[in-house]
Amino acid sequence: MSSNLKNGQWRVASYPEAEVSRDNFELVYEDVPALEAGGILVRTTALVITPPLRMSIGTGGITGNVLPIGEVMRANGQGVVVATDNPNFAEGDVVTGPLGWQEYVSFGGDQPIPLEKTEARAGLPIEANLHIMGGSGVTAYFGLYDVAKPRIGDVVLVSAAVGTVGALVCQLAKLSGCKVIGIAGNDKKCTWLMDELGIDGAINYKSEDVAARVKELCPKGVDIYFDNVGGEVLDIALDNIAHGARIVLCGATSQYEGDANWYGPSNYFNLVYKEATMQGFYIYSYANRFPEAYQRYGELIAAGKLLYNQDELKGIDTVPDALIRVLSGDNFGTQIVSFGDR
Ligand code: NAP
Repeated sequence: MSSNLKNGQWRVASYPEAEVSRDNFELVYEDVPALEAGGILVRTTALVITPPLRMSIGTGGITGNVLPIGEVMRANGQGVVVATDNPNFAEGDVVTGPLGWQEYVSFGGDQPIPLEKTEARAGLPIEANLHIMGGSGVTAYFGLYDVAKPRIGDVVLVSAAVGTVGALVCQLAKLSGCKVIGIAGNDKKCTWLMDELGIDGAINYKSEDVAARVKELCPKGVDIYFDNVGGEVLDIALDNIAHGARIVLCGATSQYEGDANWYGPSNYFNLVYKEATMQGFYIYSYANRFPEAYQRYGELIAAGKLLYNQDELKGIDTVPDALIRVLSGDNFGTQIVSFGDR
């Protein structure tokens, strides 16, 4: 690589006490790393910024995944192989995986390279592999079909319903013949859920009384609660479950900024009376079945039956803003940051 190229990198500067800010990161410019023997050098073209990244800079992160101060912040992304000494990768290959908040990454040949070669799926732009045709897409698909197991007529309540996972769950549940109620953080999102996704009800959890609205919209109880946020909304859902309900623990976005002080549900005993289940799942257990979800999404999109949104910021300077946006709900759709030409 030309020696005057610099590699912009966001490193962890401090741990936030509550809400994350740009000051928690420092943008440094270093020389582009060298190609190592047997390795590859990748130029990042896009990152996907998701809520659980907040736990990488927690002081008591529940996953134990906290990054040390000074480390490059993590994220999955896509890039192009710009130099290679590895027979499995050619110059120009598009790759997806853990690239981090940086413009160039060098992967050495002495370790397995944690990237997969990437081709566009179902005719969608290749960055869709960072969301609907990637991790969030399969999370919605298997979380709903395999864990929740929807039946025609079920009442399905979905939190973070305009989020990447949530919006797909809403649409798949609707296509399965369920009554679907979404919870989201502003009126524009609620209107979109009703008007564009055609779901049956929407609740603005920032301006409405969620407990009262769930009772009003789900008078016979909730058969499936697809939980993306945890916290008080999970407790409200537990208070409103129908007999035999299935609560799917997918994520806990409302808690990711809380570090060690997570809100525990107090209404869990309803699971006993209602003979209900509450089950977590981790998407990587379904890895061998991912193609099934991609194929189904491709069919539904081609038939005009499925929508997805991508919210894009541009340039290395904006990456912390992207994380702030997903944690404040300012994004509308999957939050991508694109870097230069794709
Ligand atoms: P996402 O829902 O697109 O996340 C962004 C949205 O979360 C924001 O737009 C915001 O929407 C909402 N949000 C932010 N802070 C919130 C808060 N304090 N309370 C309630 N909502 C809040 O994220 P995603 O990538 O689709 O992931 C959804 C969940 O699935 C995440 O919790 C993630 O960790 C989890 N996940 C789990 C697995 C698994 O294997 N189990 C895999 C992937 C993802 P509003 O405007 O509506 O607040």
